[in-house]
Amino acid sequence: MDLGLKDKVALVAASSKGLGKATALSLAGEGCRVTMCARGTDVLAEAAEEVRQATGAKVLEVVCDVTDGAAITAAFEKTEQELGNVDVLVVNAGGPKAGAFDDLTDDDWMEAYQLTHLSAVRMIRRALPHMRAAKWGRIVAIESSSVKQPVMNLHLSNGIRAGLVGYFKSISDELAKDNITINTVLPGLYLTDRILDNQKAIAERTGEALADRLEMIKNNIPMGRFGEPRELADMISFLASERGSYVTGAVIQVDGGTTRGNF
Ligand code: NAP
Repeated sequence: MDLGLKDKVALVAASSKGLGKATALSLAGEGCRVTMCARGTDVLAEAAEEVRQATGAKVLEVVCDVTDGAAITAAFEKTEQELGNVDVLVVNAGGPKAGAFDDLTDDDWMEAYQLTHLSAVRMIRRALPHMRAAKWGRIVAIESSSVKQPVMNLHLSNGIRAGLVGYFKSISDELAKDNITINTVLPGLYLTDRILDNQKAIAERTGEALADRLEMIKNNIPMGRFGEPRELADMISFLASERGSYVTGAVIQVDGGTTRGNF
């Protein structure tokens, strides 16, 4: 299947590692020119070079903290100057910190809102003028299976991401007439730095061996294995493509069957 992504411009937020990086690689492999963003300069430069080498695509790296509105604006401006207007926006960020009710302060909630929710609003607002003028646009947000099935001890993610999906669904109505789609993907368990760090912290707290913990988690996934970041990334490329033209306002888990629910 030709996804029809050749020569589109994609901006993938939070993409020096993990799911964002795999998404940049997948879109570049489909012929997009890609902007990759993150806060840490060196890891980002290495990741961008890796994507260039693997795909031969034009890849721009921009240091950008998505909690900073001015940095988001600057990332779009740099992309427009170097690659062209953004046709495909992948909303992503580092996840909010772990914690249950008693662990979390007002400041934690405000920070998580800024990182997870407000960053998405700002990126989408900046992407829309070109997409509306072009009558073509694709927005895909990487959230979490916590939207459909709350995860223990992740109250910030559980609380904020479900609300964000309500926002995406609301604007999907307004964007559809201009041929702009917006969809959400929900990763289950992929062994990226974020998941490993979370699990190491839990293992240290409980005294379990990390390997035993990971084995127990893996055995609870119906497919019996963690996801490969490429498996989420390829779903995103489909949703971002010409072939995904009639899918909008959807919330799609990519989790090896982990989410236990009908919808
Ligand atoms: P990861 O491997 O830790 O990568 C996170 C990426 O985000 C890095 O490139 C990091 O680079 C960047 N980043 C973090 N904070 C940022 C900020 N404020 N501004 C810009 N970039 C930032 O994490 P991941 O597993 O790919 O997770 C991506 C998202 O998916 C997170 O929201 C996570 O909660 C969610 N998720 C992941 C899983 C999973 O199984 N992995 C499951 C459910 C949900 P810098 O630190 O250099 O900025």
